[in-house]
Amino acid sequence: MDAPSPIYLDAFATTPIAPEALAALTAQLQRPGNAHSPHAAGAWAADAVERARRAVGRLVGADPQEIIFTSGATEANNLAILGLARAAAAGGSPRRTIITSSIEHPSVLEPAAALASEGFRHLEAPVGQDGRLDLRALRALLSEDALLVAVMAANNITGVLQPIEEVARLAREAGALVHVDAAQAAGKAPLDVYAWEVDSLSLSGHKLYGPPGVGALFLASTSPFAPLPIVHGGGQERAFRSGTLPAALIAGLGTATEVALQRMDEDASRLRALEARFCDALATRQVRFQLNGSAEYRLPGAMNLAIFGVVADHLVEILSQRVAFSTGSACASGQISIAPTLKAMSIPDTIARSSVRIYFNRYSDDCDTERAAEAIADAVRERALAPGDVVQ
Ligand code: PMP
Repeated sequence: MDAPSPIYLDAFATTPIAPEALAALTAQLQRPGNAHSPHAAGAWAADAVERARRAVGRLVGADPQEIIFTSGATEANNLAILGLARAAAAGGSPRRTIITSSIEHPSVLEPAAALASEGFRHLEAPVGQDGRLDLRALRALLSEDALLVAVMAANNITGVLQPIEEVARLAREAGALVHVDAAQAAGKAPLDVYAWEVDSLSLSGHKLYGPPGVGALFLASTSPFAPLPIVHGGGQERAFRSGTLPAALIAGLGTATEVALQRMDEDASRLRALEARFCDALATRQVRFQLNGSAEYRLPGAMNLAIFGVVADHLVEILSQRVAFSTGSACASGQISIAPTLKAMSIPDTIARSSVRIYFNRYSDDCDTERAAEAIADAVRERALAPGDVVQ
């Protein structure tokens, strides 16, 4: 018999798939059809793709024609950053500076850094202790050379929401393009690309209760540049992203998006209640903890907690069969690791080493909060008794 699955508190890494999205995915997968084929089977796939495009457009506040399907947010971020920088340079723009926040996902930081070999430079704007971008520092970095500013809507280690509207305004005033990585925020917090006036925005299916391996990039029709493609081939997705469209994955993403649109407020209030209940349950069991980052500007149900008296990597390992949560940092060869986001927030190492990220999801319930708090309290008690690796 399979071991019981752990309580799932790692929606930062991936969300469970919504049953509605799974049903849409399997229905599509069971019938062959290439969305570009000239027959009824193709038309059926194309209908599913266009319905999904409309849903994603609604989710971000865009026209469906401004949505490009990709394999996920990683590809969407790469296409936006590499593609826009190259298009601007090819179009005669003299600007060469790419500015990102210091807490971006590697799928933003790496393409920005990779552009160095093509004559661009990458600057990082710092964040405060609350995990929010320092707008004054951003303003100081903006110059006539600023080509593109890329900032995430919500961070994947803390859940902290970024001041996108202000970032976009500052960037526009300096004449720079704006890209938003909304992989964590899409479907969980309101997004409005028109109100924000951003040039591009990325999202990923498996972070909004859809399937993995599919995502989308919004490209503003009003943007002065359209990205040069990074994948060349048959010219699908208006040649921005060649490759046969995975109609089933896109149908799953589309349905997940429709459900997210219907349930966003309800999900948010339930998740806030679960989060409060979980913190109460920890406190009742004498677990001492502290929230890292802003309490106010945060995805509902998401938190980064320093749990005093434990090393987070050890806690995650000890509880791996009971609770699925993580530190969000790659732990190399048994070394204790600290998530770069916490370092960037100037959280002291002693606190950062005790910090875990916890993100409840739409299908979490009160029982999960109690059982997870119980498991953590048990582990903290055992660690407190054990000599050795207690940090404070
Ligand atoms: N951006 C952020 C903020 C993320 O959290 C992730 C996924 N961890 C990505 C981008 C990349 O998404 P994907 O792996 O689905 O391409």
